[in-house]
Amino acid sequence: MHRIYLDNAATTPVDKKVFEEMKPYFSDNFGNASSIHNFGRNASEAVEKARKQVADFFGADSGEIIFTSGATESNNLAIKGIVKAHYKKEKAKPHIITTAFEHHCVLNAVKNLEKENLIEATYIKPERDGVINILDIKKAIRPNTILVSVMYVNNEIGTVQPIKGISQMLKKYNSNIIFHTDATQAVNYFDCNVKKLGVDLMSMSAHKIYGPKGVGALYVKKGLNIAKIQDGGEQERGLRAGTLNVPGIVGLGVAMAGIRNYESGIRKIKSLRDYLIKRVLREIPNSKLNGSKIKRSPNNVNFSFPGVEGESLIMMLDADGISASTGSACSSGTLEPSHVLLSIGSKPEEAHSSLRITLGKYTTKKEIDYTIGVLKESINKLRKISGNVLSDYYKLK
Ligand code: PMP
Repeated sequence: MHRIYLDNAATTPVDKKVFEEMKPYFSDNFGNASSIHNFGRNASEAVEKARKQVADFFGADSGEIIFTSGATESNNLAIKGIVKAHYKKEKAKPHIITTAFEHHCVLNAVKNLEKENLIEATYIKPERDGVINILDIKKAIRPNTILVSVMYVNNEIGTVQPIKGISQMLKKYNSNIIFHTDATQAVNYFDCNVKKLGVDLMSMSAHKIYGPKGVGALYVKKGLNIAKIQDGGEQERGLRAGTLNVPGIVGLGVAMAGIRNYESGIRKIKSLRDYLIKRVLREIPNSKLNGSKIKRSPNNVNFSFPGVEGESLIMMLDADGISASTGSACSSGTLEPSHVLLSIGSKPEEAHSSLRITLGKYTTKKEIDYTIGVLKESINKLRKISGNVLSDYYKLK
């Protein structure tokens, strides 16, 4: 069976070129990048080349890039590192503003700091279309606000946040407030030039951009007061202890360098996305698109199909060779309704009936056509079952 992969926001395959360039660093060039001998120097040269590739993509200097194990770690380092650095100088409890629909690695990092009584926090709710209103952030600023963290593109509904507008507002209002963005879902499709965006910290992960899993980066603006959050060696300017994942870092650099000149690819994905949205809304009764249609990542579609249980739909699609997701992959396994859909005002039953389809650079029109056919059939079947169950239930009553 030809398997159709429509879960590119969960992860992407490693590009062949990326894999080939990584290979020597597992075996022949296996040195520890911190060693001063020949093996070590070879490894550290490769790491520095990758650092330059990442820095160039972000419009930053190499010295501003810290390699991590992925966006989870980058986000934890950004948030906890800023709070820790604050307490080295000040005693007063700081305030952090974030949003209610961040990835759990940001949301729970902030919630846990709040539980530990180390910070005050405000969680801004997005508008109904899944976009944060800059004025809501402005209104939430307090005299002790030290950090604002807003994701660039939401991983479930793909909505794009006004990062540049937020940074401009913050600079006008209080230029001391640090601005962090989790750009994990944006790197493939949006301008991530840190100077144009006006951000102080930016997180990303390699496996969302056709690179390997377990490696990512954090952009840290030169001169920013941030502390390490894990003890050990002095790697990464003393900000991130631990032996560097050399093959992974090489892969991250090659993957990022490959994103340039991707304009035509974006156009192709966007037109496939719009084709899929149009046909589903027209051909599947009572279907609904979650999140703005316009301020949306070119690869993201998120529907609700009332009367259909999202998990059952995923299983039916999978049986027909289609891999998609409901809510986010990170939270599947729990039957909690998606916090993202609840934050934009969806009812729990709408959230439970959601389907996320995320396209990638290898997605074809043929695959989308097949998927629409299977979707129509599966939703029909599932609605009949749930309808029968409900009518039996009412007969019994
Ligand atoms: N932030 C966002 C927006 C994400 O989509 C993800 C991955 N689902 C992460 C953070 C975490 O990335 P990783 O699992 O690579 O640490």
